Amino acid sequence: MERLVYFKDVVTLKLDAEKCVGCGMCLEVCPHAVFELENKKVWIINRDACMECGACAQNCPVEALSVEVGEGCAVAILNEMLGRECTCGSECC
Ligand code: SF4
Ligand code: SF4
Repeated sequence: MERLVYFKDVVTLKLDAEKCVGCGMCLEVCPHAVFELENKKVWIINRDACMECGACAQNCPVEALSVEVGEGCAVAILNEMLGRECTCGSECC
């Protein structure tokens, strides 16, 4: 199956590769496999798949990532409808 892509070239995700310490937290929390770790540095390999949930930026220990948090992911919307609390760690919900 092809990767999900929302809109082309509109994602606000930014990476300051100089700051990255290669901890891997962003890879762990990103639900859309936007990043890859190579030689102890993270790279953005699939920017258009980012849904701007903010989880990577929130969990990066050195503020190497920034993103304008979007309106909310489908999981957050469903959790709200079901009266459940989301525990994904992003800022969208
Ligand atoms: S904002 Fe969310 S979807 Fe986008 S790269 Fe970060 S964790 Fe992944
Ligand atoms: S969370 Fe931050 S420091 Fe850790 S790998 Fe990702 S960008 Fe690098």
